[in-house]
Amino acid sequence: MLDNMVTHSGQCHCGAVRFEFDAAPDLVAWDCDCSICAMKRNTHCIVPEADFRLLQGEQDLSCYKFNTMTAAHLFCKHCGICAFYRPRSNPDGYAVTIHCITSPTVRSVEIRKIAGSNWEAAVEQSGIRGLSHPRQQAAAAAEEAAAAAAEGGPA
Ligand SMILES: [Zn+2]
Repeated sequence: MLDNMVTHSGQCHCGAVRFEFDAAPDLVAWDCDCSICAMKRNTHCIVPEADFRLLQGEQDLSCYKFNTMTAAHLFCKHCGICAFYRPRSNPDGYAVTIHCITSPTVRSVEIRKIAGSNWEAAVEQSGIRGLSHPRQQAAAAAEEAAAAAAEGGPA
């Protein structure tokens, strides 16, 4: 866990599904207008798989898929709440519904709009894809900077 991280925890409405994840106390959340996010009013933050832990309720989850079948829209089969899921933008990570975080660990939430209704363009421009592997992205940036420095030129 990085220095600036805290452990957030959350659950579905009935409490059968419980989870926690490590992230900064200041979260970035995505307000998406694709067909399913619009209906669910789903505002979510992206969490790398390595930073997410399902604490209980694996057997209480059901899954809905549609269209490209990439996203796994997980929800509690008792109360119907989608506390987290595997998003199409980041299928190697999780999207956590910010309103399902129940710990007092969130200092702020920056809401960013993403036009999922125009999916390809919106996702490529948003930078959301890198968020499920931020360490990888940071390492690549550092490598690029080092290579540029070695060449003696500006980055
Ligand atoms: Zn539930």
